[in-house]
Amino acid sequence: MWGCMKHLWAPWRMKYILSDEKPDGCIFCPGENRADDENRLILYVGPMSMVMMNRYPYNSGHLMVLPNKHVQELDQLSDKQITDLTLNVKRTINIMKQVMSPEGFNVGLNIGKAAGAGIEEHLHFHLVPRWSGDVNYITALGEVRVVPEHIRATYQKLRPYFKKFKPNKDK
Ligand SMILES: [Zn+2]
Repeated sequence: MWGCMKHLWAPWRMKYILSDEKPDGCIFCPGENRADDENRLILYVGPMSMVMMNRYPYNSGHLMVLPNKHVQELDQLSDKQITDLTLNVKRTINIMKQVMSPEGFNVGLNIGKAAGAGIEEHLHFHLVPRWSGDVNYITALGEVRVVPEHIRATYQKLRPYFKKFKPNKDK
């Protein structure tokens, strides 16, 4: 499975993220302006972590769950922040199951340059829904930089579920 991860989260996507697409600061930091969430494909911002769609998806419905804090490694987060992050991974998978009925998921982190992470990149979990027979998607999508309309459509489908998201409670 890890062999295909390299292909799955290929560094070419970072090329776009690090080029003209980059606004001031980090594109993964939540910022203060919630009015911009839809444009940025942000589905949820909680007290410690957030959920957004990947603009250069491997597959339809490719989401990312990330800490609000700009860190590169898990050990730069407190246990509480890691718990919140992973609970949101779980909850996001549950929403994806309801909305998209995938037959499986690839979930993972790129840590370090050799793994495909950008320098100073903001740590993020990739959540990729999978269906049997979906392997040609990336070829079909190519390296076209335009956000395909279906990403916006998927955003509209997912957004109401995330609006109901309540912050995780301490257990
Ligand atoms: Zn950041």
